Amino acid sequence: MQVPETMGAMLLEKPKQPLRLRKVPIPRPKPNQILIRVHACGVCRTDLHIVDGELTDPKLPLIPGHEIVGNVAQIGEKVENFRNGDRVGVPWLAFACGDCRYCKRGQENLCENAQFTGYTVNGGFAEYTVADAAFSFHLAAGPGDAETAPWLCAGLIGYRSYRIAGKDARNLGLYGFGAAAHILTQVAVYQKRRVYAFTKPGDVKDQGFARRLGAVWAGGSDEQPPEQLDAAIIFAPVGSLVPAALRAVGKGGTVVCGGIHMSDIPSFPYQLLWEERSVRSVANLTRRDGEEFLEIAPQVPVKTQVQVYSLDRANDALCDLRDGKVEGAAVLSMGAS
Ligand SMILES: [Zn+2]
Ligand SMILES: [Zn+2]
Repeated sequence: MQVPETMGAMLLEKPKQPLRLRKVPIPRPKPNQILIRVHACGVCRTDLHIVDGELTDPKLPLIPGHEIVGNVAQIGEKVENFRNGDRVGVPWLAFACGDCRYCKRGQENLCENAQFTGYTVNGGFAEYTVADAAFSFHLAAGPGDAETAPWLCAGLIGYRSYRIAGKDARNLGLYGFGAAAHILTQVAVYQKRRVYAFTKPGDVKDQGFARRLGAVWAGGSDEQPPEQLDAAIIFAPVGSLVPAALRAVGKGGTVVCGGIHMSDIPSFPYQLLWEERSVRSVANLTRRDGEEFLEIAPQVPVKTQVQVYSLDRANDALCDLRDGKVEGAAVLSMGAS
């Protein structure tokens, strides 16, 4: 494949400033890397936290974006698991060392030397990107590139949260009905779970969206569900949802915080945690999470609702996400205008 010299990319030059469209050199793959022609890249709440300066110390200047779908355009000399033209997906976890105590016990998501796509290394808000071949996923033919992009974070990290919520969680609450929840609802319904969707109080639009996807109940996060939950996953970055979710789960119930950033959790009576309820966070993902999700998603099959923007409109996508104006997932499509 003929690769040009330069590409368009949306750059974060300084936190708390809009991204800028720049012409930059196309990176060349190192021996362990693949060069990817990016077709679509999802816009995730984490991108918003990086741009807004809530996640500190990003690489600067930075090309954000960690839900990348494209085709391999060049391979590094040591790459054996990809060939030119392969359809590929790149997630948030860009690298784990394999040597630290976390990697050695199978927790590469907690690696002490981890790199993250679109945060500590450049991501997919660009026409091309490079990625470590060992941390990239083969994507089967399936839904379109824009529809597949949100699988790479909302799907994968959402799935990790879902797995940690437990196999026995028949009544599952989802707080914050955005990209991750709308994907997970489909997986959960497919696996015969009962989904209770919690949105911002009064957000009847998202509540209707949740019901259409098969949620048995949808209401405001200030409401109690009609039945006690076995587990709840919080995707909204709102700490006060932790005591709210604890109130909604029964004895032994788990509340999983699925986001990378959350506002402070207010103090709450011990009574809410009593009877073996637990609260835990989920950080990043392992390659196993990715493999499992990418296997199950086509069986469901997961249909992602996307709002598509051209690359140069990345700031509009971020603003719409910040303002809660995205139904489903926001995606940059490099072919869109
Ligand atoms: Zn993400
Ligand atoms: Zn490690």
